[in-house]
Amino acid sequence: TQTLHIVGGGMAGSEAAWQAANAGIPVTLHEMRPKVGTFAHRTGQLAEMVCSNSFRSDDDEQNAVGLLHWEMRAAGGLVMEMADAHRLPAGGALAVDRDPFAEAVTARLRAHPNVTVEEGEITALPADGHWIVATGPLTSGALAEAIRAETGAEALAFFDAIAPIVYADSIDMEKAWFQSRYDKGETEEERTAYLNCPMDKPTYEAFIDALIAADKTAFHEGETAKYFDGCLPIEVMAERGRETLRHGPMKPVGLTNPHQPDIKPHAIVQLRRDNALGTLFNIVGFQTKMKYGAQADVFRMIPGLEQARFARLGGIHRNTFLNSPTLLDDRMRLRSRPNIRFAGQITGVEGYVESAAMGLLAGRLAAAEIRGHPLPPPPPETAMGALIHHITGGAEAKTFQPMNVNFGLFPPVDLKGGRRNRPARYKAYTDRAKAAWTGWLTAADAAAA
Ligand code: FAD
Repeated sequence: TQTLHIVGGGMAGSEAAWQAANAGIPVTLHEMRPKVGTFAHRTGQLAEMVCSNSFRSDDDEQNAVGLLHWEMRAAGGLVMEMADAHRLPAGGALAVDRDPFAEAVTARLRAHPNVTVEEGEITALPADGHWIVATGPLTSGALAEAIRAETGAEALAFFDAIAPIVYADSIDMEKAWFQSRYDKGETEEERTAYLNCPMDKPTYEAFIDALIAADKTAFHEGETAKYFDGCLPIEVMAERGRETLRHGPMKPVGLTNPHQPDIKPHAIVQLRRDNALGTLFNIVGFQTKMKYGAQADVFRMIPGLEQARFARLGGIHRNTFLNSPTLLDDRMRLRSRPNIRFAGQITGVEGYVESAAMGLLAGRLAAAEIRGHPLPPPPPETAMGALIHHITGGAEAKTFQPMNVNFGLFPPVDLKGGRRNRPARYKAYTDRAKAAWTGWLTAADAAAA
């Protein structure tokens, strides 16, 4: 059987190796540490958690990341099995004892008869053979250059600039309205691409004060902040002058508030549709280094967003990631070189759990392909399917930024009259997902048998 080469033994690469090896495929896992390090990793272990030790919520009925845990456990995921084995008490969250966890993942992979771990940096994109590139947010410089040469400079980013994302159904439409600036756009889709929230002068002034006063996160040491070209944090813009935002992302021109047509807003916050489903909107130009707690408070000062629920909060980090909607097919293969798959955070998902999940999927898809029984992508009703569908097709390519798993990525559930009953709605999402994931796994196992 042909060997599957996996570059990067982090969350995604480790899980991909486990899945493919268990499917009977010989795997060579190439990991550059400890020979070559990154500014965040400390050890030479596989699946090292570089920062927090949390896999976030473990609630598989009410939370999308908890659902992802469930789906990975159902698929025999190594990362989840070892996280469960090294769980620390943390209420509803899954906190992990990081060193024993990474040591256990490393030991299990090294002991697997189908896995070879090869130490050393891969610096070029291989021309042939089956490959998965899972080199993460801190992909080494040489390989990043090689990827850039293949994809074009525009399609590989080195920093993310994440504006907060709001659930559409939590926006107060008595205050907000749909309109694109100067009424650009002809189709219904284009006309509903932007939502606007008006601000009067006192609200604007208070908002600027709050931005300046809010707690901010510092960049990590070694994470040189090069964000100054093009995407300044919103609070840095506010610090540069009280009127800067009114002349930048919050300019009140080319828009008319239908709720109060006679009053010209002092400033306008624009939100842009973030996915084809229209369930998510991002706040345009609001990338930020404000701490999460501060962000929710500050952004809820915006008229129309008082009750906003956030699918994700803003951030700016050193993060190597592809423009996956344009570069990858629906099974994570590089369109220009289908012998290479990408997995993990480099595909534009964000976080340990999401990255491991995309590794699980890539490992299974690659193994099935090598065995001559290619698999379809999982259905979009599953957390796995919702994520892969978002990054490879559902997200807007032009403004693509990394994404956490959340229910806004799923096709909406139709709960007649139950729209306000959030627990029932989330339960409906997770029930539907579990059935669909079980179905996909069963079909996949049958095809392999
Ligand atoms: P990684 O886990 O980073 O694994 C990639 C692996 O590839 C690494 O082992 C690396 O050494 C190796 N590699 C890179 N280039 C090469 C090469 N050319 N050849 C061979 N090997 C190579 N997520 C959270 O959920 N919570 C957090 O609190 C959190 N904090 C973070 C803080 C920082 C500073 C950073 C950088 C990331 C943080 N993340 C956090 C994100 C998290 O690290 C990733 O989501 C996750 O680790 C991604 O998994 P991955 O497998 O894609 O990449």
